[in-house]
Amino acid sequence: MKKVMVVFPHPDDESFACGGTLAKCKEANQMTCLICVTSGCGGRTGPYSIDCREKLARHREQELGKAAEVLGISRLDLFRYPDGSLAEADFDELVGRIREAITDWQPDVVVTFPPDGVTGHPDHIVTCKATTRAVELAELEMSTDDYPDLYYVSIPHYYDHCPDKGPNPAVPITGKVDITRFRLQKGEALRAHQSQVYSVNRAYPGVIEGDFGVIGCYEYYTLVRSKGKPVELNPRRTGSR
Ligand SMILES: [Zn+2]
Repeated sequence: MKKVMVVFPHPDDESFACGGTLAKCKEANQMTCLICVTSGCGGRTGPYSIDCREKLARHREQELGKAAEVLGISRLDLFRYPDGSLAEADFDELVGRIREAITDWQPDVVVTFPPDGVTGHPDHIVTCKATTRAVELAELEMSTDDYPDLYYVSIPHYYDHCPDKGPNPAVPITGKVDITRFRLQKGEALRAHQSQVYSVNRAYPGVIEGDFGVIGCYEYYTLVRSKGKPVELNPRRTGSR
């Protein structure tokens, strides 16, 4: 039985980046753990008139709880850093918390954002750096057989519906997961993040209204570290296989 840990900075990143994969893991009886680093208190409030950051944080945690239920996530860790603060946060402390979660839960696979953060958001970029470092440090406390594989998510179609342009260059994709049968769960998980209607509408127009036609059949990944060593990325392998 495989254990898959995903580390993302904001409530909703998990549904955008790998909601279908998480639902697929659940069906395959694989355990999943989501570490959500911030409470999302810096985000928009959508249809809700929430005037204080703390209330928004609590509201977004509830939305995340709903999404986690839809996706069958086995363990949800909330680090509750302030949204938008990760570039100024104590980096070693953040790395230490992720490292501890890894050595405690012993995942076979760890997934996070790529170095460009997909959207270029500083919280996304720091989460990538911290998680990558945490995996390296966790290995020092684990036996060789237990080293997790580290993957970066890629969302190549993110910008299909977005007016802004993605950062360059993205890391080459080395694998994809067929989520055709799990588009419903991905759509319902995205819909759980009602306060993020603006972001969901930008990347997945129609989903908030219950039309999941825009959700693709694959989620894409890059294997960057395996068996304690970085994986050589061959740019010629860019694209789907
Ligand atoms: Zn995010």
